[in-house]
Amino acid sequence: MDNQEMNIALAQLLFPDIDKTPDYFEELYPARDLPEGARVTRFAPSPTGYLHIGGLFGALVDVLTARVSGGKAYLRIEDTDKKREIDDGVSAITDGLSAFGVEFDEGVTGFNTESGKYGPYTQSRRVEIYQTIAKSLVERGLAYPCFCSAEDLTALREKQEAEGALIRGYFGKYAKCRNLTLDEIKANLDSGKPWVLRFRSDGSDDKRITFEDVIRGKIEMPENTIDEVLLKSDGIPTYHFAHVCDDHFMHTTHVIRGEEWISSVPKHIALFKACGYKVPKFAHTPQVMKIDEETGEKRKLSKRKDPEAAVSYFVVEGFPKESLIEYLLTLISSGFEDWRRANPDAAAMDYPFNLKKMSNSGCLFDLVKLNDVSKNVICHMSASTVYDRVAAWAKEYDGEFYKVISADPARTTAILNIDRENPKPRKDIAKWNEVKDYISYFYPQFYQKDYTLPENIGKEDAEAILKKYSEVFSLDDDKDMWFQRIKDICEPLGFTPNVKEYKKNPDAFKGHVGDVSTVIRIALTSRRNTPDLYSIMQLLGADEIKARLADAAANLK
Ligand code: GLU
Repeated sequence: MDNQEMNIALAQLLFPDIDKTPDYFEELYPARDLPEGARVTRFAPSPTGYLHIGGLFGALVDVLTARVSGGKAYLRIEDTDKKREIDDGVSAITDGLSAFGVEFDEGVTGFNTESGKYGPYTQSRRVEIYQTIAKSLVERGLAYPCFCSAEDLTALREKQEAEGALIRGYFGKYAKCRNLTLDEIKANLDSGKPWVLRFRSDGSDDKRITFEDVIRGKIEMPENTIDEVLLKSDGIPTYHFAHVCDDHFMHTTHVIRGEEWISSVPKHIALFKACGYKVPKFAHTPQVMKIDEETGEKRKLSKRKDPEAAVSYFVVEGFPKESLIEYLLTLISSGFEDWRRANPDAAAMDYPFNLKKMSNSGCLFDLVKLNDVSKNVICHMSASTVYDRVAAWAKEYDGEFYKVISADPARTTAILNIDRENPKPRKDIAKWNEVKDYISYFYPQFYQKDYTLPENIGKEDAEAILKKYSEVFSLDDDKDMWFQRIKDICEPLGFTPNVKEYKKNPDAFKGHVGDVSTVIRIALTSRRNTPDLYSIMQLLGADEIKARLADAAANLK
């Protein structure tokens, strides 16, 4: 038998059940019919039951990159690492993506569901493909079975440490199983020894490879020399091998992934080449970081320490999807804010994103900034949109609040419309879980009275203001008349309706019209700062106003 015949015999010995050839899959997954320059991207998480904010960030980059080029973005589930997987680890990912409107053109759509012509999009369902390609690598002498046990590998590591080897791992002279004869392999297989399939690397440690990272530019690294595991002892591929096969057959043009994968690129390029595949473009995105509250230092957002590392956190808190996306876009692309100023009403997903211009340093996730962005997004929503969104959120996360606000949607909407739908709307709400407190004084179920007066206003004066105002207010007044009545009660009570006059001569008065309004505001809402009090009173109604003014007058602090 010559070498080639031996390789073919070995391939058959290792993969007796594989009867397909790589060509079969080439035909099954033909090139995509897309315009010139179209980019095909993928988001490829493991089904860990958790979607990290960095994942959403990456998914957004995938979708936008495909979108601006007329290409396709798909969602692939990489479940070859059984240790990390949980039963339904997929729904948390698809739910998190859909909660924020990040939609893929094809791929996995939920637990056990998918769409698209290049599937299955879950790696555990593609084992036949990987094994077919693996078999062809064996046939071409580019892969071999390795029977080394865990103990053998530990001994190897210790030997390399003792020798001070610069590169550690299974390669070259250390690769014990590299040159086993067919008979030795047969004997091992017959005795039932478990085996993994290894790549036969032809890399050399004095050579370097360069590649062009779309975000980072040219990167130079030592060539891969390691005989990487392609298939584990259960026949399941490693990530390295699986993603090479998948990105080839799914016709990915741009592999966009976290920067933690940069060090694996030499290995991946070697595998793409050994398989005879075109090497895709790589773009390694920066990590999502935060400033640690205790140390003040920049660090990675951590699943363990930071609740905001989970996309589900933003759902539970009630951040509108537009807000989080808007904010992530400011992190993804420094040009976004300028574009937004020039296109205030455009949908965020229409942003003409340029992957090449993405920053390559860690991007800082700042909750305070997200809150500001979100207030700005929410203040431009119509009252009925706000109502619908709040109601949908409350139905899920605050049943009691939902019951109360949905008992009279028109009134709740009117409450939410105070100081809204005008050229300068108030920016009070950043997320839906703040709404209950924000409007609580309209609802006896949630209203918490607090009649604490500012220090400059005496209790008796406040009492007098409330009594007087109770006699004169009228809900039939227009806004000017309403304010006039407040001004009118100032002088008889020792206050001045004229703020300027007060400032000129503060000792002549107990206070000014602003103080009088504050007392009324506190009596009606228990707050010093509220949206337009005239509108609030219209919605409270005369009976409730009278009752509150009397109650406050009797209980001032
Ligand atoms: N499955 C890999 C991970 O979850 C994805 C890496 C890639 O996008 O290629 O980290």
